[in-house]
Amino acid sequence: MNQNLLQGLGMTSQRTRERLVQRLMDQGVSNWEVLDVMRNTPRHIFLDEALSHRAYEDTALPIGFGQTLSQPYIVARMTEILLGAAGSLDKVLEVGTGSGFQTSVLAQLVKQVYSVERIKPLQDKAKQRLRDLGLRNVRFKHSDGGFGWPEVGPFNAILSAAAPQIMPKELLAQLAPNGVLVIPIGGDKQELHLVMRDGDSENFITQVLEPVKFVPLKSGTIDA
Ligand code: SAH
Repeated sequence: MNQNLLQGLGMTSQRTRERLVQRLMDQGVSNWEVLDVMRNTPRHIFLDEALSHRAYEDTALPIGFGQTLSQPYIVARMTEILLGAAGSLDKVLEVGTGSGFQTSVLAQLVKQVYSVERIKPLQDKAKQRLRDLGLRNVRFKHSDGGFGWPEVGPFNAILSAAAPQIMPKELLAQLAPNGVLVIPIGGDKQELHLVMRDGDSENFITQVLEPVKFVPLKSGTIDA
Protein backbone atom coordinates (compact mmCIF):
# COMPACT_ATOMS: atom_id res chain seq x y z
CA MET A 1 0.00 0.00 0.00
CA ASN A 2 1.08 3.52 -0.80
CA GLN A 3 2.95 5.06 2.16
CA ASN A 4 1.00 8.34 1.95
CA LEU A 5 -2.24 6.45 2.16
CA LEU A 6 -1.08 4.52 5.22
CA GLN A 7 0.24 7.55 7.02
CA GLY A 8 -2.72 9.72 6.19
CA LEU A 9 -2.87 13.39 5.31
CA GLY A 10 -4.99 16.26 6.64
CA MET A 11 -7.88 14.91 8.69
CA THR A 12 -6.12 11.56 9.01
CA SER A 13 -2.77 13.01 10.08
CA GLN A 14 -0.66 12.08 13.10
CA ARG A 15 -1.87 15.18 14.95
CA THR A 16 -5.51 14.16 14.49
CA ARG A 17 -4.66 10.71 15.84
CA GLU A 18 -2.87 12.21 18.82
CA ARG A 19 -6.05 14.13 19.68
CA LEU A 20 -8.00 10.89 19.58
CA VAL A 21 -5.52 9.19 21.93
CA GLN A 22 -5.80 12.14 24.33
CA ARG A 23 -9.56 11.73 24.26
CA LEU A 24 -9.28 8.03 25.02
CA MET A 25 -7.08 8.87 28.02
CA ASP A 26 -9.61 11.48 29.17
CA GLN A 27 -12.25 8.75 29.03
CA GLY A 28 -10.16 6.55 31.30
CA VAL A 29 -8.21 4.26 28.95
CA SER A 30 -4.86 3.88 30.68
CA ASN A 31 -3.03 0.86 29.22
CA TRP A 32 -0.01 2.31 27.41
CA GLU A 33 0.37 -0.59 25.02
CA VAL A 34 -3.24 -0.22 23.95
CA LEU A 35 -2.94 3.57 23.58
CA ASP A 36 0.20 3.10 21.50
CA VAL A 37 -1.48 0.65 19.17
CA MET A 38 -4.53 2.96 18.86
CA ARG A 39 -2.16 5.79 17.96
CA ASN A 40 -0.36 3.78 15.29
CA THR A 41 -3.20 1.89 13.64
CA PRO A 42 -4.50 3.82 10.60
CA ARG A 43 -8.26 3.70 11.20
CA HIS A 44 -8.96 5.54 7.95
CA ILE A 45 -8.05 2.52 5.80
CA PHE A 46 -10.89 0.57 7.44
CA LEU A 47 -13.51 2.89 5.95
CA ASP A 48 -14.76 3.69 2.47
CA GLU A 49 -12.99 6.72 1.06
CA ALA A 50 -16.05 8.97 1.42
CA LEU A 51 -15.93 8.48 5.21
CA SER A 52 -12.19 8.26 5.80
CA HIS A 53 -11.92 11.91 6.84
CA ARG A 54 -14.06 11.04 9.88
CA ALA A 55 -11.89 8.08 10.89
CA TYR A 56 -10.37 9.70 13.99
CA GLU A 57 -13.65 10.93 15.44
CA ASP A 58 -14.61 8.94 18.50
CA THR A 59 -17.79 7.55 16.93
CA ALA A 60 -19.00 4.35 15.30
CA LEU A 61 -19.13 4.66 11.49
CA PRO A 62 -20.99 2.65 8.82
CA ILE A 63 -19.12 -0.08 6.88
CA GLY A 64 -22.04 -1.38 4.79
CA PHE A 65 -24.49 -4.28 5.28
CA GLY A 66 -26.03 -2.35 8.19
CA GLN A 67 -22.84 -2.86 10.25
CA THR A 68 -20.52 -0.37 11.91
CA LEU A 69 -16.85 0.15 12.62
CA SER A 70 -16.82 0.29 16.43
CA GLN A 71 -16.19 3.54 18.28
CA PRO A 72 -12.44 3.87 19.06
CA TYR A 73 -13.21 4.21 22.79
CA ILE A 74 -14.97 0.85 22.88
CA VAL A 75 -12.20 -0.89 20.88
CA ALA A 76 -9.56 0.49 23.25
CA ARG A 77 -11.62 -0.26 26.35
CA MET A 78 -12.46 -3.86 25.41
CA THR A 79 -8.84 -4.52 24.46
CA GLU A 80 -7.62 -3.06 27.74
CA ILE A 81 -10.08 -5.22 29.71
CA LEU A 82 -9.05 -8.32 27.80
CA LEU A 83 -5.33 -7.69 28.27
CA GLY A 84 -5.76 -6.94 31.96
CA ALA A 85 -7.84 -10.03 32.73
CA ALA A 86 -6.35 -12.76 30.53
CA GLY A 87 -3.50 -14.83 31.96
CA SER A 88 -2.14 -15.82 28.57
CA LEU A 89 -2.54 -14.12 25.21
CA ASP A 90 -1.51 -17.01 22.98
CA LYS A 91 -4.89 -17.67 21.35
CA VAL A 92 -7.59 -15.04 21.09
CA LEU A 93 -10.94 -15.44 19.32
CA GLU A 94 -12.77 -12.43 17.92
CA VAL A 95 -16.45 -12.75 17.04
CA GLY A 96 -17.50 -10.21 14.37
CA THR A 97 -14.50 -9.14 12.27
CA GLY A 98 -16.44 -6.27 10.63
CA SER A 99 -13.94 -3.85 9.11
CA GLY A 100 -11.00 -5.63 10.76
CA PHE A 101 -10.00 -2.62 12.87
CA GLN A 102 -10.39 -4.34 16.25
CA THR A 103 -8.74 -7.41 14.68
CA SER A 104 -5.67 -5.31 13.76
CA VAL A 105 -5.47 -3.84 17.25
CA LEU A 106 -5.59 -7.30 18.80
CA ALA A 107 -3.09 -8.72 16.31
CA GLN A 108 -0.50 -6.22 17.51
CA LEU A 109 -0.95 -7.18 21.16
CA VAL A 110 -1.49 -10.95 21.27
CA LYS A 111 0.22 -13.94 19.70
CA GLN A 112 -2.49 -15.37 17.45
CA VAL A 113 -5.94 -14.03 16.56
CA TYR A 114 -8.79 -16.14 15.19
CA SER A 115 -11.53 -13.95 13.76
CA VAL A 116 -15.00 -15.06 12.70
CA GLU A 117 -17.42 -13.02 10.54
CA ARG A 118 -20.83 -14.01 9.15
CA ILE A 119 -20.86 -11.53 6.19
CA LYS A 120 -18.41 -12.70 3.53
CA PRO A 121 -17.78 -9.39 1.67
CA LEU A 122 -16.89 -7.66 4.96
CA GLN A 123 -14.52 -10.48 5.81
CA ASP A 124 -12.83 -10.30 2.39
CA LYS A 125 -12.18 -6.55 2.76
CA ALA A 126 -10.89 -6.98 6.31
CA LYS A 127 -8.49 -9.73 5.19
CA GLN A 128 -7.05 -7.46 2.50
CA ARG A 129 -6.57 -4.59 4.98
CA LEU A 130 -4.67 -6.78 7.43
CA ARG A 131 -2.51 -8.03 4.56
CA ASP A 132 -1.81 -4.39 3.60
CA LEU A 133 -0.73 -3.69 7.17
CA GLY A 134 1.55 -6.73 7.17
CA LEU A 135 -0.30 -8.38 10.07
CA ARG A 136 0.07 -12.11 9.55
CA ASN A 137 -0.93 -13.62 12.88
CA VAL A 138 -4.65 -13.72 12.10
CA ARG A 139 -6.78 -16.58 10.79
CA PHE A 140 -10.24 -15.81 9.41
CA LYS A 141 -13.34 -17.94 9.21
CA HIS A 142 -16.64 -17.23 7.48
CA SER A 143 -19.22 -18.60 9.88
CA ASP A 144 -21.70 -17.89 12.64
CA GLY A 145 -19.42 -16.90 15.48
CA GLY A 146 -22.08 -17.53 18.09
CA PHE A 147 -20.71 -21.08 17.91
CA GLY A 148 -17.13 -19.89 18.32
CA TRP A 149 -14.44 -21.84 16.44
CA PRO A 150 -14.47 -25.23 18.18
CA GLU A 151 -11.90 -26.84 15.83
CA VAL A 152 -9.14 -24.50 17.04
CA GLY A 153 -10.32 -23.69 20.57
CA PRO A 154 -9.98 -23.49 23.52
CA PHE A 155 -8.97 -19.83 23.67
CA ASN A 156 -7.21 -17.80 26.33
CA ALA A 157 -9.53 -14.93 25.54
CA ILE A 158 -12.64 -14.29 23.44
CA LEU A 159 -13.90 -10.84 22.42
CA SER A 160 -17.30 -10.35 20.82
CA ALA A 161 -18.08 -7.22 18.78
CA ALA A 162 -21.75 -8.17 18.42
CA ALA A 163 -24.33 -8.48 21.20
CA PRO A 164 -26.34 -11.66 21.86
CA GLN A 165 -29.48 -11.48 24.01
CA ILE A 166 -28.11 -14.07 26.41
CA MET A 167 -24.66 -15.45 27.22
CA PRO A 168 -23.70 -17.99 24.49
CA LYS A 169 -22.81 -21.30 26.19
CA GLU A 170 -20.72 -22.36 23.21
CA LEU A 171 -18.31 -19.47 23.79
CA LEU A 172 -17.99 -20.25 27.51
CA ALA A 173 -17.24 -23.86 26.61
CA GLN A 174 -14.34 -22.72 24.40
CA LEU A 175 -12.54 -20.82 27.17
CA ALA A 176 -9.22 -22.34 28.25
CA PRO A 177 -8.48 -22.62 32.00
CA ASN A 178 -8.51 -19.06 33.42
CA GLY A 179 -9.72 -17.85 30.01
CA VAL A 180 -11.73 -14.64 29.72
CA LEU A 181 -14.69 -13.54 27.60
CA VAL A 182 -15.45 -9.87 26.94
CA ILE A 183 -18.91 -9.52 25.44
CA PRO A 184 -21.85 -7.09 25.22
CA ILE A 185 -25.14 -8.73 26.23
CA GLY A 186 -28.67 -7.47 25.72
CA GLY A 187 -31.11 -5.94 23.26
CA ASP A 188 -32.13 -2.28 23.40
CA LYS A 189 -30.22 -2.06 26.66
CA GLN A 190 -26.84 -3.73 26.62
CA GLU A 191 -24.11 -4.17 29.22
CA LEU A 192 -20.50 -5.12 28.66
CA HIS A 193 -19.71 -8.37 30.51
CA LEU A 194 -16.39 -9.83 31.58
CA VAL A 195 -16.54 -13.56 32.27
CA MET A 196 -13.60 -15.46 33.74
CA ARG A 197 -13.29 -19.24 33.83
CA ASP A 198 -12.21 -20.22 37.34
CA GLY A 199 -9.13 -22.41 36.70
CA ASP A 200 -10.13 -25.46 34.72
CA SER A 201 -13.47 -25.77 36.53
CA GLU A 202 -16.92 -25.29 35.08
CA ASN A 203 -17.34 -22.20 37.26
CA PHE A 204 -17.48 -18.82 35.58
CA ILE A 205 -17.15 -15.50 37.39
CA THR A 206 -19.09 -12.69 35.73
CA GLN A 207 -18.61 -8.94 36.12
CA VAL A 208 -21.04 -6.45 34.54
CA LEU A 209 -18.92 -3.48 33.48
CA GLU A 210 -20.71 -0.66 31.67
CA PRO A 211 -23.63 0.14 29.34
CA VAL A 212 -22.72 -0.21 25.65
CA LYS A 213 -24.35 -0.17 22.20
CA PHE A 214 -23.37 -2.87 19.71
CA VAL A 215 -25.00 -4.37 16.63
CA PRO A 216 -26.86 -7.59 17.46
CA LEU A 217 -25.21 -11.01 17.15
CA LYS A 218 -27.17 -12.64 14.34
CA SER A 219 -27.39 -16.27 13.37
CA GLY A 220 -26.50 -17.82 10.01
CA THR A 221 -24.15 -16.45 7.34
CA ILE A 222 -24.35 -14.13 4.29
CA ASP A 223 -22.27 -15.01 1.20
CA ALA A 224 -22.52 -11.91 -1.00
N1 SAH B 1 -14.99 -4.40 15.69
C1 SAH B 1 -15.65 -4.39 14.42
C2 SAH B 1 -17.13 -4.31 14.67
C3 SAH B 1 -17.97 -4.70 13.55
S1 SAH B 1 -19.69 -4.69 13.92
C4 SAH B 1 -15.15 -3.15 13.68
O1 SAH B 1 -14.69 -2.24 14.36
O2 SAH B 1 -15.23 -3.07 12.46
C5 SAH B 1 -19.94 -6.34 14.41
C6 SAH B 1 -19.72 -7.39 13.36
O3 SAH B 1 -20.20 -8.62 13.89
C7 SAH B 1 -20.46 -7.16 12.03
O4 SAH B 1 -19.55 -7.20 10.98
C8 SAH B 1 -21.43 -8.35 11.97
O5 SAH B 1 -21.64 -8.85 10.65
C9 SAH B 1 -20.72 -9.37 12.83
N2 SAH B 1 -21.58 -10.42 13.36
C10 SAH B 1 -22.84 -10.33 13.86
N3 SAH B 1 -23.28 -11.53 14.26
C11 SAH B 1 -22.27 -12.41 13.98
C12 SAH B 1 -22.14 -13.81 14.15
N4 SAH B 1 -23.11 -14.58 14.67
N5 SAH B 1 -20.98 -14.39 13.76
C13 SAH B 1 -19.96 -13.65 13.23
N6 SAH B 1 -20.04 -12.33 13.05
C14 SAH B 1 -21.18 -11.70 13.42
